[in-house]
Amino acid sequence: MARPAKLRCVAQFPNVGFFRPVGVPVNALQGVCLSLEEVESIRLKDLEGLEQEECAQQMRVSRPTFHRILESARKKLADALINGKAIQIEGGNFELPQRRFRCDDDGHEWNVPFEVMAQRLPLSCPKCLSGNIEPMPLPAFGLGRGHGRGFRGGRRW
Ligand SMILES: [Zn+2]
Repeated sequence: MARPAKLRCVAQFPNVGFFRPVGVPVNALQGVCLSLEEVESIRLKDLEGLEQEECAQQMRVSRPTFHRILESARKKLADALINGKAIQIEGGNFELPQRRFRCDDDGHEWNVPFEVMAQRLPLSCPKCLSGNIEPMPLPAFGLGRGHGRGFRGGRRW
């Protein structure tokens, strides 16, 4: 079995998943794509003003990894700002600090912490052992799955 990419913990999602500059014709528009964990790194470091060590802890990554995510995010934002590019926020390898699961058979609901999900997603209901369980969906925005503004698919901006 392929080893899954290491998950980063993202506690908060931005309100808007797409930004575009005014006055740039659509056919000339270029864009950058930020992952949800890149946005989270900006939120923790630049908006909340936390130390890198704290940011890394919150995202459950090493400090060098956090630094790499942050640098990548800042570089893309600078590129968009200076060169007048659109910004799309979507995708990444992340999970919430905890996610609520629901059993379709008996309606039982329970919380699963990040640390558990990072190892393995739960396979059955802890109460009735049914495998018929589902996580509460992540906010639909920004995950790049089948909704959007027509610029998805071909990476057209
Ligand atoms: Zn159940």
